[in-house]
Amino acid sequence: MGDGDISATCDATSKEQLFIPIGLVADLWSARSRDEILQSFSKWVSVAIKADRCSIALPDGDNLVVKALNGDQAIPQGTAVPINGSVLGRVFANRTAEVVRDLAEQPFMDCRKLADAGMKCLIDVPLLAGDRCFGTLAVALRQDKDDLCKETAILTALAQCIATQLLVIEQMDHLVAMARTDALTGAGNRHALYERAAQVWQDWQQNSRPFSFLAMDVDHFKQINDTYGHDIGDTILCAFVRRVAARSRAGDQIIRTGGEEFGLLMHDTDLATATSRANRLCDAIGDSPFAIKGMELNITASFGLTQVLSSDAGFEDVMKRADMALYEAKAAGRDQVISLDQAELAA
Ligand code: GH3
Ligand code: MG
Ligand code: MG
Repeated sequence: MGDGDISATCDATSKEQLFIPIGLVADLWSARSRDEILQSFSKWVSVAIKADRCSIALPDGDNLVVKALNGDQAIPQGTAVPINGSVLGRVFANRTAEVVRDLAEQPFMDCRKLADAGMKCLIDVPLLAGDRCFGTLAVALRQDKDDLCKETAILTALAQCIATQLLVIEQMDHLVAMARTDALTGAGNRHALYERAAQVWQDWQQNSRPFSFLAMDVDHFKQINDTYGHDIGDTILCAFVRRVAARSRAGDQIIRTGGEEFGLLMHDTDLATATSRANRLCDAIGDSPFAIKGMELNITASFGLTQVLSSDAGFEDVMKRADMALYEAKAAGRDQVISLDQAELAA
């Protein structure tokens, strides 16, 4: 049974006497990920409330998934609790804290599991920050208490801290994604390229695993803009990236290096394999028209390809060689792939 807005029943005097363990602050300071932060909270909430079980559940589709857990394993970490048909789900949906006593009497699956593990009562509070509800924070006690006002007040305060942390993490993730992404096409930008390049370069240096880089440039794009307008040009750039992405492996990074210029960084790929991939890409762009705003537009692109070589001092050398190959592809009539390796450079 829900007790409505429970924290409001705690008077100001008793709230002033509530304390949060200092160990929580230390743990949060050293936490390196969202999961570590949630785990710290579940541990210290248990301490602050002397709970037999504390869990934090976050939404995933129609469920709340237990992401952090301290104490009794009645509902183990990773369990998906249906939002419809559970107390956790009701607290999440209604955004209102609940104290549930007589767990064994309740018809909900979460209450039954807790009762089976010997729990008597449950306090569940929503993780609220601004207009967002990020999930719920729940504690269960083996011994019922008449007055759970203090516990609920502590829980509500800590739930607000958790929600604020989750909001900040979400915003940081969003900013990081934006900082790596080209806003028009959704391809990576040079930040993303250099990050991925550092990884493949290390793999090359330490494990001799080669990588290849493909420079791509849409042919006669200025003419396309002049003929159909800049908007259509923008749409073509987006469609171009989608077509390349549909034919790339997971982990291959597509980058917008300039206006109508792109790069494809192929990890763990030697020149022979990269050449056949690049040729398939060239065909995939040029062989079927792009359907844009009721028009069928024939687009081609030129491709310059190279593989990392032992003589390369850094990733920049690889990019420069791919650009030279691209220049050759343009000079040779466009709509084709030119590969440059050391032997050809020396010739
Ligand atoms: P080439 O085959 O030699 O590559 O010729 P090109 O016309 O593609 O190359 P050029 O460098 O002459 O022109 C590139 C054009 O790309 C000019 C520029 O206005 C256009 N462009 C650059 N960025 C964007 C963009 O974000 N959107 C649109 N629509 N056009 C862009
Ligand atoms: Mg071009
Ligand atoms: Mg260009």
